[in-house]
Amino acid sequence: MREYQKANAERRSRIPAALWAFLAPDPEEFYRWRVQLECGCIAEVMTHGSERLPGEQRWCDAIHKAWLPAGQMLCPHEDSPSPYRDIVEWGERREVSFPADPVEPPDWTDAKTWAAIRHDETHTSAFWVVTLSCGHCAEVIAPNLKWKPGDPPKRASPKRLPEMKASFEEYWASHPDDEDEREREHTRRMLAEGWPCPAPEQLCHTCTFAQWIVAYQRVGWLVPRKSEPNPPKSPSRAILQRRLRQAETEAKQLREQLAELDEGDASAENS
Ligand SMILES: [Zn+2]
Ligand SMILES: [Zn+2]
Repeated sequence: MREYQKANAERRSRIPAALWAFLAPDPEEFYRWRVQLECGCIAEVMTHGSERLPGEQRWCDAIHKAWLPAGQMLCPHEDSPSPYRDIVEWGERREVSFPADPVEPPDWTDAKTWAAIRHDETHTSAFWVVTLSCGHCAEVIAPNLKWKPGDPPKRASPKRLPEMKASFEEYWASHPDDEDEREREHTRRMLAEGWPCPAPEQLCHTCTFAQWIVAYQRVGWLVPRKSEPNPPKSPSRAILQRRLRQAETEAKQLREQLAELDEGDASAENS
């Protein structure tokens, strides 16, 4: 309660009083829940009113300033690696200019490689905010400023592609521990597609932080009610319907995750 009032006083100092009801409501309107996430962690969250379940609420992905899918929250676990996800939608775009690279090679590469990849003039790239197949947002770079969604990506030439494949295979054979399997699989998919630019898939770092809410328990109003029974003895039809929808959504998500696992197992067996 003290935490809420402190944060709310700060919020109210920044916005006109007419908007307080929407952007900085009184603490009496908030309901507390204990939630369990799929990673096993337990957290406490609040919803606006007591009828909206935590699994129906959308939380913010502060890094990308985007909403997470309803029912997901951020809970960082360092040991989970980011997966590659297909890009399903291209959103806003901004252009960023970079100065020419220094002539001297940086510490992480040698002079020969640096000479091949170095930009000797100022250059500009387009940065796109994209939506990935998992529902999360990410930012990807399209070096070609004229490219727009729907245009075919630029691909490596038919002459260059077999050379690229051969040098990757050679590198992997001589450096078996240099790169993890995820990066090799990504490179193989890119080669199979003709090395498209912009790439059709992107690492999703949010996937390593975002966890589904799998269970919840009522704690009560942030400001306890004197006569309110808690929880209500017989929920209304609307509440039961909403809970059923939430349970069905969760079941659907679990089935999709299982199907993804099955697909992964099948492709591992085939390869
Ligand atoms: Zn966790
Ligand atoms: Zn994701």
